[in-house]
Amino acid sequence: MSTHSWIHPSLEIRESKIHGKGVFATTCIKASERLAIFGGDIMLIDEINNLAESMQDYPMQIEERFVLGSREERTSEDTDYFNHSCAPNAGFKGQIFLVAMRDIEKNEEITFDYSMVLSQSVGSDIVFTMECQCGSESCRKMISEEDWKKPELQKKYRGFFSEYISEKIEETNRTDFSKLCEGDKDPTLNKTINTLIEATEDWIVYLDADLSVEWAQNDNIAETESFGAIANMVAYYESLSSELLAKRHIEPFHRLLGESLARSYENHTERANEILTRAKEYMDARSKERAKMWYLCSSASVVTCVSIVILLVKCFYAHFYLWAGPAWTDIIIGSLFGSIGAFISIISRSSEISVNAAAGLKIHIIDGLARVFVAMLGAFLVAVCLKANLVLSMPNGLDSPRLYLIAFCIVAGASERIVPDLIQKVGGTIDAKDKVVRESK
Ligand SMILES: [Zn+2]
Repeated sequence: MSTHSWIHPSLEIRESKIHGKGVFATTCIKASERLAIFGGDIMLIDEINNLAESMQDYPMQIEERFVLGSREERTSEDTDYFNHSCAPNAGFKGQIFLVAMRDIEKNEEITFDYSMVLSQSVGSDIVFTMECQCGSESCRKMISEEDWKKPELQKKYRGFFSEYISEKIEETNRTDFSKLCEGDKDPTLNKTINTLIEATEDWIVYLDADLSVEWAQNDNIAETESFGAIANMVAYYESLSSELLAKRHIEPFHRLLGESLARSYENHTERANEILTRAKEYMDARSKERAKMWYLCSSASVVTCVSIVILLVKCFYAHFYLWAGPAWTDIIIGSLFGSIGAFISIISRSSEISVNAAAGLKIHIIDGLARVFVAMLGAFLVAVCLKANLVLSMPNGLDSPRLYLIAFCIVAGASERIVPDLIQKVGGTIDAKDKVVRESK
């Protein structure tokens, strides 16, 4: 019968396959349920040597120097029977609470891994080792007080080590990020620090060799909800930047994203959001410039080609005239000048033209070409109508009727405006996507 400790009413002591007696579940137990609370006398580890031999196996370590056990020789308590397993189903909350690590089935033996509570006691000559016969696939065969240092166990039992072991793990795994400089390797992510944004003892934000924004922190820094939200937006903007920005603009943009994360680590969420907004404005402006360049270059290159054709016609005019005949010569020349009209029209409204780098280079070229093509078609129709005297008859006695026709065809080039806005249709807007990302969180 327990006197110093408490055990879950659905647990009982039975013969164990692992070792002697063990603690078993008599019903199903849900994950996280409290299974036992350990109690007893608080003793220095070396006091174990003074205990009656029958009591020396039971003390449980609760701190580097202290154990919980019984000074008196007494009948054993239920909590004395928890066996070790290398594949346990129970772990610790604090130092004395044993909880279920997962759902436990009826008749399962309750075990914990002794590495969750054991560590070497400084200045004590008691060294703990134990041969293990738990029979699990992951059995370590030999259990020692150094086991908590094993990275695979630290990962496996994260959140289930006795509080004092958790603190020791945190302390040994702590990185002093403030000592890292540009060119160093960040030991937590194993990435080279190319551009250091900011580092303190407990966290770091930097750009790596690929100019990606990286951040790392020690376990004592809890990621808040607002930090998570900023980090999500940073990751999202970063994924857009490779598509929307020219190479030379990526570093300054990623620096802004990193700045925002650094402010967020300092809990200056408002400032972090301001910087994020500034980063987005920067991305919008740079990507618009880039898309406009694509757009103007594509239409300009068509117009250059057309101008070369016009020059060729001029050079070989006699042959061309002979081949096409007087009417078609005028119509073809008029159509070619329609493209120049289109370019003038595009340039004249370049400030209001909607471009969007999100639609990609191809769509900007297609849009530019489509406009020049439609303009030439418009000019062609105007030239045909003029030649057929359908729209306006050529003024009589005009010195150069062809100049008159060319002027009309250039004006007809403005028909590029009737081309539907492909770019916005394909690209959508970053703002709309932003909204989706923010709302999906
Ligand atoms: Zn084992």
